[in-house]
Amino acid sequence: MARLILKRGREGRLLAGHPWIYRGEIAEVVGEWRANEAVTVLDGEGRFVGRGFYNPRPSLSCRLLTRQDEPVDRTFFRRRLTAALAYRARTGLVADGFRWVWSEGDDLAGLVVDRYGPVAVLQCLTLGMSRQGPWLVEAVKEVGGAGYVYLHDDPTAARIEGFDPELRWADGGGPAEVEIREGPCRFPVPVGSGQKTGFYLDQRENRAFVATHANGRRVLDAFCYAGAFACHALVAGAREAVCLDSSAEALALARRTLALNGVETRADCREVNAFDELRRLERAEERFGLVVLDPPPFTRRKDALEAAARGYKEINLRALRLLEPQGILATFSCSHHVSQALFEDICLAAAADAGVSVRVLATLGQARDHPVLLTVPETRYLKGLLLERR
Ligand code: SAH
Repeated sequence: MARLILKRGREGRLLAGHPWIYRGEIAEVVGEWRANEAVTVLDGEGRFVGRGFYNPRPSLSCRLLTRQDEPVDRTFFRRRLTAALAYRARTGLVADGFRWVWSEGDDLAGLVVDRYGPVAVLQCLTLGMSRQGPWLVEAVKEVGGAGYVYLHDDPTAARIEGFDPELRWADGGGPAEVEIREGPCRFPVPVGSGQKTGFYLDQRENRAFVATHANGRRVLDAFCYAGAFACHALVAGAREAVCLDSSAEALALARRTLALNGVETRADCREVNAFDELRRLERAEERFGLVVLDPPPFTRRKDALEAAARGYKEINLRALRLLEPQGILATFSCSHHVSQALFEDICLAAAADAGVSVRVLATLGQARDHPVLLTVPETRYLKGLLLERR
């Protein structure tokens, strides 16, 4: 097993509970390195720090998987998968659709597993994880009782890490689409062809919560993907919903979703750029009782934060102007680098420019099956506010 030796004095972040090691912190890697085997990490004094997969290619070169002197092997992964499932079972999070493994949040850096009924979708984010081979699939089937496993790697992570992203059934085949229940709604989840792993599980709790404000209201679901916010709102008694997305595939899925729930006659799905449509709706002096803004990440890089902040401010400003008095804005950011504090500042500036006063009804985050480690701020990516126009 290869050993990764840190430069002297570079173990501070690791000892503080963060699992990442950057290339510049590494003195040397000794022994024969194999991508599929965890390396032993030692500090500059030769003390054991932990074990994790190493990859010389990306600047984020190693993520610890354990701080114990234990092998990172089949039984290790089985234990971690079992623990991740046990947490969700204990806390009532096991459902038709739920996130079973959330990378660092479940001490399985580089692995995401989502469940959609009988299907488990497995996403590898590191070279080491992608090289674990068929036994990881076996473990997912055995520990979680999944009938089918679909491999759905993230192309961006694969490019950075230098592996070919998988997009296929692990063995044999499986259903191209699975229907899941989420509260009172039913959602068709495309396996392999949709966004993310097929569905935005991170908004599960927020969708239910936001719907409690929907009754009798006109709803705008901007950046709607499958129209899941609009669907919950309509089922909860919203008068009508306008759904916006720039993707034709997303809107086709939204239309089918709304029809499956018998609410399509109260919905209007528009294939548009939400920035343009928000501006147009404002000019047309349209009004809504509930607006949902759930855009894609506006930046994945720290140095593009300012442009991202301008984007968030723009859509929030327009959305606030579209609200009728006592109307509700559910607004989100899933950009890793936009902190809750920064997001609140942006919303404050948007409200000031829109000339409206708002009250915070709730601070929102990612669903509890995407657990956050306080020591790893990167595990918290989804931030949201539920604002009421006064
Ligand atoms: N609210 C959804 C998830 C939204 S994901 C849910 O709960 O399931 C963000 C969506 O924004 C994606 O579907 C993407 O296609 C869409 N999108 C990205 N840029 C856009 C733009 N400029 N205008 C409209 N939609 C956009």
